[in-house]
Amino acid sequence: MGHIIPMAEFAKQLFQHHHISATIIVPTTGTPPKPQISVLESLPENIHHLFLPPVNVDGLPKDVRPEIKIIYIIHASLSSLRDALASLSSKVKLVAFVFDMFGHVSMKVTKEFNLLNFLFFPMNAMALTFTFTLAKLDEETSGEYKDWPSPVKVPGSVSFHGRELMSPVQVRTDEVYKEYLLLSKNLALLDGILENSFEELEEESFRVLCGGIAGQTPVYPIGPLIQSDRANESDRHECLKWLDDQPSGSVLLVSFGSGGVLSVEQVHELAHGLEMSNHRFLWIVRSPDKVSNASFFSDSKDADPLGYLPEGFLSRTANRGYIVPSWGPQIKILSHESIGGFLTHCGWNSTLESVVHGVPMIAWPLYAEQHMNARVMTETLDLALRLEIDNDGMYRREEIEKVVKELMEGDEGKKIAKRLKELKIAAMNALSDGGSSMKSLAKFAFQVKKK
Ligand code: UDP
Repeated sequence: MGHIIPMAEFAKQLFQHHHISATIIVPTTGTPPKPQISVLESLPENIHHLFLPPVNVDGLPKDVRPEIKIIYIIHASLSSLRDALASLSSKVKLVAFVFDMFGHVSMKVTKEFNLLNFLFFPMNAMALTFTFTLAKLDEETSGEYKDWPSPVKVPGSVSFHGRELMSPVQVRTDEVYKEYLLLSKNLALLDGILENSFEELEEESFRVLCGGIAGQTPVYPIGPLIQSDRANESDRHECLKWLDDQPSGSVLLVSFGSGGVLSVEQVHELAHGLEMSNHRFLWIVRSPDKVSNASFFSDSKDADPLGYLPEGFLSRTANRGYIVPSWGPQIKILSHESIGGFLTHCGWNSTLESVVHGVPMIAWPLYAEQHMNARVMTETLDLALRLEIDNDGMYRREEIEKVVKELMEGDEGKKIAKRLKELKIAAMNALSDGGSSMKSLAKFAFQVKKK
């Protein structure tokens, strides 16, 4: 969903501003999940979608990691992709193929149709810069990055300890590493990269990308693209009604994205920390798990997340806390004027949603590239305050209490809130006529139309 939604927004913009229509092609393993269907079916009629025939994943181990499963599905879908492109090209003039990081293997097929190949990169420009440098890093070094004594410098950004690097590069012998390395090598073969960020947010990273790191490959910053549809107001979620009754800017949203889950102990620490802060909060609570990425959205059934909260927590915080089990309308919550802060897992979509709505953040990274995001969000982009992790890898209640108070009432929090207010306007401008992202989109459209 974190890739489909911004790509669908991109398709909308492309049609609206340049009359280029798109078909969104989605691999499947059976009936697609309802939220996926509803996003795709709500698109304007000039944006089509098609689901590729289901791939049989019965042969994969039950506990297979989501990335491995996705890679398997994409490879197994290549022949149906070929059929789909053949059928489409008999009806319309196909000129370009846009894929996400998992989809670069489809270049094998798109070559047969003489299409331009573009990567849609749903992470930030810093992560893209790192991806450009990975092939060289791999060639020149050996051993796991996490064991390195010296940090890895990402041009235009900070230095990262090896264990902070994005999860696909954590184990060199892993299939996911090999796939990501191949992506890094393939970047030079692309006709361009669509980057879901904007120049004013990540100036330095775009400077190094466009000033040499990306070589001949054009990089188009076209963000921030977040889901723009607003469902009708009649089925407004109860939590929004609760927010209506809270003072402006007084509530902290706590949400860990589509896949983020905490351990039982960490859920308890968080609950106590929120309680001790005495601030209002709206928490989208998920059942605990041992792994931090449970791919909740697609796979699991979240039985009774409230059953895991500390005893008496709900009644003690009833006058200032609101709990949403499992899944909530995050963008609508962030756009509500009662929201004054966001404790986030630093997923890039969530971060952009917060920027678009001018909400200052607390960084609580879990997996994927979120540890890298947290570093830049707190150290160079000034979007968030950082929670200090203790020696046994836990965020303790006292730390949570302290940082929540700092964000909601302290001087540091005020500084970040001011910066977010400015960025909210910058984000709006980037997507307005003549704005930086609109100009990039126009350049992309020109490249596609001249083919
Ligand atoms: N999201 C939501 N409700 C939830 C949790 C998440 O609508 O209860 C949405 C959120 O608004 C964002 C996406 O799920 O658009 C999460 O994407 P992100 O890149 O932040 O994190 P990921 O899912 O990749 O971990």
